[in-house]
Amino acid sequence: MHTKTLTELSAMLQAGEVSSVALTEHFLDRIEQYDQDLNSFITVTREEALEAARAADERIQAGNAGPLTGVPIAHKDIFCTDGVRTSCGSRMLDNFIAPYDATVVEQFKQAGAVVLGKTNMDEFAMGSSNETSFYGPVKNPWDRDRVPGGSSGGSAASVAARLAPAATGTDTGGSIRQPAALCGITGLKPTYGRVSRWGMIAFASSLDQGGPMAQSAEDCALMLEVMSGFDEKDSTSVNEAVPDYRTQLSQGLQGLKIGLPKEYFSEGLGPEVEAVVRAAIEEYKKLGAEIIEISLPNTHLAVPAYYVVAPAECSSNLSRFDGVRYGYRCDDPKDLQDLYERSRGEGFGEEVKRRIMIGAYALSAGYYDAYYLKAQKVRHLISDDFRKAFEEVDVIMGPTAPSTAFKLGEKADDPVTMYLSDIYTIAVNLAGLPGMSVPAGFSEGMPVGLQIIGNYFEEARLLNVAHQYQQVTDWHRQIPEAFKGQS
Ligand code: GLN
Repeated sequence: MHTKTLTELSAMLQAGEVSSVALTEHFLDRIEQYDQDLNSFITVTREEALEAARAADERIQAGNAGPLTGVPIAHKDIFCTDGVRTSCGSRMLDNFIAPYDATVVEQFKQAGAVVLGKTNMDEFAMGSSNETSFYGPVKNPWDRDRVPGGSSGGSAASVAARLAPAATGTDTGGSIRQPAALCGITGLKPTYGRVSRWGMIAFASSLDQGGPMAQSAEDCALMLEVMSGFDEKDSTSVNEAVPDYRTQLSQGLQGLKIGLPKEYFSEGLGPEVEAVVRAAIEEYKKLGAEIIEISLPNTHLAVPAYYVVAPAECSSNLSRFDGVRYGYRCDDPKDLQDLYERSRGEGFGEEVKRRIMIGAYALSAGYYDAYYLKAQKVRHLISDDFRKAFEEVDVIMGPTAPSTAFKLGEKADDPVTMYLSDIYTIAVNLAGLPGMSVPAGFSEGMPVGLQIIGNYFEEARLLNVAHQYQQVTDWHRQIPEAFKGQS
């Protein structure tokens, strides 16, 4: 059963070929069997899942089920889940039981999906390797000495190992696309404002966006239909109708204009990754697409601008964790100052503290203009690059990440090298555009992702472009040997 896509499982449930309880038990058993080693889940909600599965079976029998009714999924542990620990990968929230559901969680609940548990992640979504998690690193199912990418590494690894058919993720600078690429799954970061951020623990509010992580574009389309839409509880949610993503998947690609930014194929890109991405583009030519070389001249400024804007916003967002209201509190504080200092000092990990300090510095009087304001101007230039490009092309393609998954520990002590893992994904967040990563092949046994970037609210087109490629390739159906098991 675990070799099936979300879409196939949905059809099996509707046809009565399998019950949601049986399906849920199958995935819970796989988690029990494999996750001790993989560490892709922080919390497994066995009882709640089985209860939801029983309710889903009744709903299917009563004839009022939707396509996601009874299908098991997992949520990144950044989404608040009523009555269930929501840790955000941090010691700070290790004891935090959310008193409400995030809008995204609520949407899946309404649809009747079954939640298997909460997936591991970099602490407060800061990282590209999952190594900053308080709960320890996640391993890449394709090679357990390597990282799964981050920050949604638990979601990516659990789907790649088929411990869950699909999962939610969030992407502030690449956290859906980069782990999707490194684990060989399909992930989509929607346009900023498409998916509600309410109840999604904030990292950098002007960049954060939730999205689906699954085996195929078709599965992502199914999930996005449920996740998208206006939410009055999120002031940046956009009131734009949700298209029927699935019906648009089958359109042909004849005449599609694909832009290849020369800056995405230059120094820093691993030759093996480049070869795989170029082969994927050849495949698109066969499907009738036209390839146009373009330039995004400010690409080199994306990482530096991001590492001012994101820490600035995080330093402000994370000020709420003070040891008073909720979360971690130090033992025996001598006074209020000591309570603040030790609760934050002991509750946050190294990377989070580094970001808070960089952000507080960049926002301080005297440095605000030199750093924060400058970064905001650069952000504008980057958006403009894309605006001009989309006057000429329909979608932009390139690599998702410069290399395949690196070894655990390899970059952990070198933050700047780690930050460069997101060199091709970050600009998309700064501009607020939608982007996808699609499995495009392997290099020395490790998956490579093709990135597809679209214009604002063109998720339907991205999914269509990815789906057509998945009709003629089977990279997205590959399962790591150690996790094939008996289906
Ligand atoms: N790796 C980037 C960072 O560490 C992006 C993380 C994300 O998208 N949440 O900030």
